[in-house]
Amino acid sequence: MFDDRSRKYKNQYVPLLPVDISRYEPFVGKEALDDIWNLAKPLQNKIWANVNSTFVGGGVAEMLQSVIPFARGLGIDARWFVIEGSEDFFTVTKKFHNLLQGVDQPISLQEIFHAYLDIIDVNTRKVKVVGDMITVHDPQPAAMVMNGNIYGHTIWRCHIDTSNASRRIWRFLLPYINQYEGAIFTAPEFVKDNLKIPTYEISPSIDPLRAKNKQRSRKEALKVLEPVFNKYNLDPQRPMVVAVSRYDIHKNQKGIIESFKLMKQSLAKGMNPILVIMGNSATDDPEGNIIYEQVKKAAGDDKDIYLLLNVENNDEVVGSLMSIANCFVHISTKEGFGLVVAEAMWQGIPVIGSKVGGIPKQVVNGANGFLVGPYENSQIARVMQTFLEDKGLRDSFGQAARKHVAENFLLPQMLKKEIILMRYHLEIDNKNPDFRMNDLTYREITQALYSRKNWPFSTSDLKRQIESIGEDLEPGEID
Ligand code: UDP
Repeated sequence: MFDDRSRKYKNQYVPLLPVDISRYEPFVGKEALDDIWNLAKPLQNKIWANVNSTFVGGGVAEMLQSVIPFARGLGIDARWFVIEGSEDFFTVTKKFHNLLQGVDQPISLQEIFHAYLDIIDVNTRKVKVVGDMITVHDPQPAAMVMNGNIYGHTIWRCHIDTSNASRRIWRFLLPYINQYEGAIFTAPEFVKDNLKIPTYEISPSIDPLRAKNKQRSRKEALKVLEPVFNKYNLDPQRPMVVAVSRYDIHKNQKGIIESFKLMKQSLAKGMNPILVIMGNSATDDPEGNIIYEQVKKAAGDDKDIYLLLNVENNDEVVGSLMSIANCFVHISTKEGFGLVVAEAMWQGIPVIGSKVGGIPKQVVNGANGFLVGPYENSQIARVMQTFLEDKGLRDSFGQAARKHVAENFLLPQMLKKEIILMRYHLEIDNKNPDFRMNDLTYREITQALYSRKNWPFSTSDLKRQIESIGEDLEPGEID
């Protein structure tokens, strides 16, 4: 089962070496990289600190493993801090996570004050995070901003689908979030009421240099998979439906199993597919074990279903498994983005994805995959069958999937946006980023009014926005 020793990670600085940026040229082209180089020049030697709550497991840790080396490769002094947490702390932050994703569950004042805020206090007493720019990821470390031990321009980045967030938890977190200078969300629908800070839309991304995202021939992939397939007694020649994710209630692995079982009932004779679900748990996620047991129960004694857990040589196995799949299924009930969707698409595999959170940004229905309702098992079963039976469709959707990721969701594209954002907040640029989602805030307007800098906003724009804010400011003071 899960290795609890991994929970002992202490509040720590994660050192990562810079990467040679030119290695990304085959994926995004020289022009795009030159553009990023130029944008990053004024940020050289500036400190960009990132704070999150786990070093391994889940999409945020996955991305930071690549973001830090890339930014360092550009000469930015990028750093990564992981906060320390107890079992109780992660139990309560998991509740935050669930409540933010719209799942109602009880949460007590005791949990909020003792399990959450006390641990945040301990963290901020132990470390000072100093940087020119500091990005704090997700709710776990969010309240650190109040304790005065984060020095620099601060951004909160939300990786969660908050479109149906519980009002209770949003109201608790809002005063903390409003202390940041800006917030990043994956999609405009995720932004909740009463945010008084600039909001930006930035999609997560995958790193084509990671072993996980290396593109292999079928022969190479099968070689990587040989030890795992031997261990689980799995026949690589059988058609394969694949899913990869943490064992988590929202990942809906049970729904995948039910749909697969349903699909088998109407398959043509001679078709003998297997379902391979690969999963792990994150150190900040205490629910993994429970969900794994539930998924195991749902699979029952079905000999065509294989559950892989905390597999050795994880990264190479993930990419290889995806690459030999007939289709990839990711039917989460809630999903901030779903990096696994981009990873599978990058391997040229069509995805059956749920119409939830950030998944529709990636899966274009009927063009590179199919979008389904997460509970529509018969529809899911039907499209699984289609992909198993129709190689032509599989191949053409797979190619389109890869192209879509190449154009939108590779690491350099995301870093470009983060760099533009840093330039804005460090006042290297006064041009508002074009991925900004809201109007100028009261604070920005007053800054524009009193700094008398050459801001790009017209007087009428400022007047209109001052009126809409309804504050008693004197527009006459604008030069
Ligand atoms: N992952 C992995 N091994 C596993 C399960 C998941 O390496 O057994 C990785 C997966 O490839 C992806 C990340 O964990 O890079 C999960 O990110 P995603 O955004 O899909 O979901 P999250 O866990 O952040 O909700």
